[in-house]
Amino acid sequence: MRSLRLSVYPDGAFVVTAPKWYPLYVINKFLQEKSDWLFEKLKNVDFHQLAVKKQSEINCYAAGKEYARSVIADRVEFFNRRYHFSFNRISIKNQKSCWGSCSAKKNLNFSYKVASLPEELCDYIVVHELCHLQELNHGQKFWELVKMTVPNYNELRRKLKNHIK
Ligand SMILES: [Zn+2]
Repeated sequence: MRSLRLSVYPDGAFVVTAPKWYPLYVINKFLQEKSDWLFEKLKNVDFHQLAVKKQSEINCYAAGKEYARSVIADRVEFFNRRYHFSFNRISIKNQKSCWGSCSAKKNLNFSYKVASLPEELCDYIVVHELCHLQELNHGQKFWELVKMTVPNYNELRRKLKNHIK
C-alpha cells in the first residue's frame, strides 16, 4: 500500500498516484479507506472563493477581448503592409497554451493577453504568426521572414519567457 498516494489540491481536485500495474480494485479500496480523510480535506476548500475567481477571469476576458482585437488587428494590418500575406480571419482567444498560432487554413489566433504585453513583444508575436502564413514551420526561411521586420527577435523571445500567458 505504501506506493499509493492521494493528494488534494487547493481547487478541490484530488489525484491518486499508483504504479501502472496496480489493479483498479486495490485503488478503489484505498480510496474508500481514505474517504473520511478526503471529505475532511475538502471541507477546507473554499468553493465559493474559487467560483468568484473563475467568474472574474471570465469577466476579464470579456472586457479584454474587444480591446485586444482592435490592438492586434491594427498591428497585423501594419506589418502586413510589408509582407502582403493573405489570411482569413483573426481570432482572439482565452488560451493559456500559447500566445498565438496560425492554422493551415490561414487563420490567425491570438491570446487576448497579447495586447497587454509591452509593445515590442506584442509586435513580435504578431509578426511571428504573420510569417507562419508563408512558412508553417520554424525553419530558416521562417526566421528570415521574421528578421525582415524584427531583427532582434532572439532577444524578444527571451524576454517573452518572463511573461505569463
Ligand atoms: Zn511559431
